[in-house]
Amino acid sequence: MARLFFALQPDARGRQAIACSLPDDLAAARPLPESNLHVTLVFLGELDGDQETAVRAVADEIAASPFALCFSELAYWPRSRARVLVPEEVPPAAQALRAELARRLREAQLPFDARIWHPHLTVARRARRGGGELRAPITIAFNDFVLMRSRTEPAGAVYEPVGRWSLPGSSGVGGVG
Ligand code: ATP
Ligand code: MG
Repeated sequence: MARLFFALQPDARGRQAIACSLPDDLAAARPLPESNLHVTLVFLGELDGDQETAVRAVADEIAASPFALCFSELAYWPRSRARVLVPEEVPPAAQALRAELARRLREAQLPFDARIWHPHLTVARRARRGGGELRAPITIAFNDFVLMRSRTEPAGAVYEPVGRWSLPGSSGVGGVG
């Protein structure tokens, strides 16, 4: 069994943009390690090997376009005691990717959290209310999505990409005439 979710993972440039824009005082006892930064696309949960194989087949079928998210707000979510980057709007291509994954997972009768998607990027846990504001909005381009495995270690959750699928049109070759 593995605890799995689909996610968007900022690349090195995106991670640097985040690091440069976060305030010094995050009011956080535990900032997230850079490699854990992600936007959950679809949370799947504990899957067995057959289900994971089926989930990978679903991802193979996805035909969605790349997009960028512009994070303009550093919010505090009291229920999770997290500080999160929230995009100022969800572009249609991002919504379409989430919708296509959900539709195909449903068709394949695979379990996932089907509640409304609120894209966000957690930058700190065990935070207090307060702390500084973003220095500047952060725009991050996403040209692929990943299947992440989540493990709980003594120091906290660790996420590891175990699959990656590019979004068509992001290769820089070909293109639409
Ligand atoms: P922990 O649960 O150990 O405190 P975590 O919440 O970071 O750590 P996971 O529970 O494995 O780790 O979650 C992985 C990702 O999926 C996180 O971004 C989390 O917010 C998100 N997530 C977890 N459960 C759900 C859910 N039921 N619906 C949507 N997203 C979820
Ligand atoms: Mg959790």
